[in-house]
Amino acid sequence: MAQINRVRGTNDFLYEDSRKLRYIEQVFAQKSKNYNFEQIRIPIFEYTELFQRGIGEATDIVSKEMFTFLDRGNRSMTLRPEGTAGIVRAVIENSLINERAINKIYYIGSMYRAERPQKGRYREFNQYGIECIGTDNPYTDAEVIALNLYILNTLSANLNCSALESLELEINTVGCQSCKPNYNEALRQYLDDKKDSLCAVCQNRYEKNILRILDCKNASCAAVLENAPQIYDHVCSECKEHFDSLCFSLKEMNIDYTINSKLVRGLDYYTKTAFEIKSNYLGTQSAVAGGGRYDNLIATFNNGKAVPAVGSAMGIERLLIILEDSKLSEIAKSSLDVFVILFKESVCFGTTIINELRKNNISVDSDLNLRSIKSQFKSADKSNAKYCLIIGSDEIENSMATLRDMHTGIEQKISFDKLSSILYSLLHKN
Ligand code: AMP
Repeated sequence: MAQINRVRGTNDFLYEDSRKLRYIEQVFAQKSKNYNFEQIRIPIFEYTELFQRGIGEATDIVSKEMFTFLDRGNRSMTLRPEGTAGIVRAVIENSLINERAINKIYYIGSMYRAERPQKGRYREFNQYGIECIGTDNPYTDAEVIALNLYILNTLSANLNCSALESLELEINTVGCQSCKPNYNEALRQYLDDKKDSLCAVCQNRYEKNILRILDCKNASCAAVLENAPQIYDHVCSECKEHFDSLCFSLKEMNIDYTINSKLVRGLDYYTKTAFEIKSNYLGTQSAVAGGGRYDNLIATFNNGKAVPAVGSAMGIERLLIILEDSKLSEIAKSSLDVFVILFKESVCFGTTIINELRKNNISVDSDLNLRSIKSQFKSADKSNAKYCLIIGSDEIENSMATLRDMHTGIEQKISFDKLSSILYSLLHKN
């Protein structure tokens, strides 16, 4: 029978990659804690309507990228393409929105989009996302940006990663519900006699989601847009003030940014702030993180009661690409405290010793296939063990195990009853 391979656009995170992920996730958890963001976990699939209503029918994600299926009861389900809609649903459904004035949440998990796979763009990918729900203070937008940068800068410093030193923060305002139509109209008028020069996708966007034309990477569209009206000139005074305060807060925090007046992002729910953190190391899929404010999203699920919010999501696979030449591989090397060499006559006694060591928080492995001593030493080497413990019939007879330091090669005899305590202190001497 033919071998079954993984689905196109998905990835296996094998041993080393999983260790890398674990390291990064620890940094997410620690740094989120410093900003008092707390983790919540929500389902991977939701009713399709959640995303249709939340993200917007006209967006690329909803119109062509969702993995949607009927369950056995003929209900339409969708694998989450992003985290915010689900978080908002959970916050409302579980009354968190009433219990806390401000909810500061982070999540880590897999997302699903049927995009054309390429480097940095997958059909299953992982995001670290943060959401601050319950305040319209522009300082919060700056805090969300600052936490993303804090994480990236920490990784850069801890992992000696020069690729993370050259990140670019781009910000923009996309206006609010009341002033967005003004800009849409100005853009429509500007493009009215230039429509034919737009790419086919943007000609469709002209009808359905005109703002997204600004984001098009196509060179002919970029040329058409060169003299397009600027969003900032068409947003209301409240949105202008919000944006100015965000810029001010970022300056106060010593965070460099550029204003990209064409940055609108792919989700409909954004209001006021939109931002992206880009790395030129990533090629065309250059955004490692992106986000913005979504002051009206919650009202769509909350009987019209609006609660202001701002959030972001960082792509973990893209982060791993940036970290490729960093110290992460070294840090993520497998490690084992002790590899025990056993023989047929010592396997029974040996396994009791192994269990005792494990109970003392020492990581231990052995080759229960009991291959030749040479093969067992090879396995010890491969497992990156710090020490090798030899338990043969001589050792059992003399009640002393032979301990070999795998780094220096030096061997010593240790009585079995002192093994745990001696090993523990050897392993923790630094
Ligand atoms: P978004 O949810 O579209 O705002 O994207 C936030 C971040 O998620 C991006 O900046 C990327 O780092 C990452 N991301 C989005 N889509 C993909 C994808 N298809 N594959 C890998 N990473 C992605």
